[in-house]
Amino acid sequence: MKISTNINKDVEFVLIDNKALNKRIKELGKEITKDYKGKNPVLLCLLKGSLHFMTKLAENITLPIEYECLKASSYANTVSTGKVSVLVNMLNSIKDKDVIIVEDIVDTGHTMKNILEILEKEGARSIEIATMLNKQARREVEGINPKYVGFEIPDYFVIGFGLDYNEFYRNLPYIGVLKEEVYKNNEQ
Ligand code: 5GP
Repeated sequence: MKISTNINKDVEFVLIDNKALNKRIKELGKEITKDYKGKNPVLLCLLKGSLHFMTKLAENITLPIEYECLKASSYANTVSTGKVSVLVNMLNSIKDKDVIIVEDIVDTGHTMKNILEILEKEGARSIEIATMLNKQARREVEGINPKYVGFEIPDYFVIGFGLDYNEFYRNLPYIGVLKEEVYKNNEQ
């Protein structure tokens, strides 16, 4: 994999800049604060891609909230495999809790379907999805409708603000589209 010493150079173009991200996440935080008034929801961060979204979202919620983390994986390079494995399960009990799953991006919906099945068995009182990005046009699974969506995006492979390509680029402060030349040789 050929990665530039300045990771910004591997970005074809910026899809959503940092200012727009922060503005929208602030709005989502306010909406969640209003919807969950009087409750103590659990924010369940799906590692690692949701780290940036999770912290920004949490900062903009004024309710007493709890954090949980789960690590699932479905991607091989830039193609979703459809098969999801839960690699690290760090869940304390979510029984009778109001859970908000915090996801970086919902694409085909297979990951979310699997996670919902796992969580439903744990006896949560309610489960909603907050996703930073949504690729509705790519959905393969019916009934995966996040209640809180940051941005609807077209079918690009995006990186930054937590999202990676082969574990790199997560630290870009914006959502960008990766240059084809970076992954072209890697996926042949
Ligand atoms: P799904 O199972 O919905 O197809 O895929 C969900 C997961 O695939 C996301 O949590 C994310 O990790 C990964 N993913 C989907 N689309 C993209 C993308 O455009 N860029 C990156 N970096 N990851 C993606």
